[in-house]
Amino acid sequence: MNEEVIKNRILKENNINKKYEILYDYLYDYLVKQWHDNNYCDFKDNKCIANRAKKTIHEDNGCCWKKGYGLCSYLNEDKICSCNSISCKLFVCSYLRKKVRFNPKGLPLVKEFLTNKQQKILTKNLLRPKDDILQQLIKYDKTM
Ligand code: SF4
Ligand code: SF4
Repeated sequence: MNEEVIKNRILKENNINKKYEILYDYLYDYLVKQWHDNNYCDFKDNKCIANRAKKTIHEDNGCCWKKGYGLCSYLNEDKICSCNSISCKLFVCSYLRKKVRFNPKGLPLVKEFLTNKQQKILTKNLLRPKDDILQQLIKYDKTM
């Protein structure tokens, strides 16, 4: 769905939770598509490009394996994130950062609907599930 259609859906929706969920899902899907279409991480046999270059602290599972934490419990058997964490989708490891960065401000509809504080919430919640992040966004609502 394109940006204008999503914008109109948000504006017409009266329920604040649903408004934020429409925006969140749209941004999440947008980021998933960016990662997928550009194949930045280039997984092969469960090892991403940074794993294979030995630039990570663990040998596989990319950045779903965290120091002091191990393999994230939200990674499902198909190696897909089961909690739709948008902060993880905005995160780029140091190995890839020269090539790709995601600034929330540059994402569609963010400047129109999210304050600076809410934009920080988008980036600061690695390994946190969608519902938690949505609750934080709603708590600091000013624009919807
Ligand atoms: S962002 Fe970096 S560490 Fe994470 S999966 Fe991609 S290449 Fe691997
Ligand atoms: S929450 Fe983050 S670290 Fe955990 S499975 Fe999802 S993308 Fe990976």
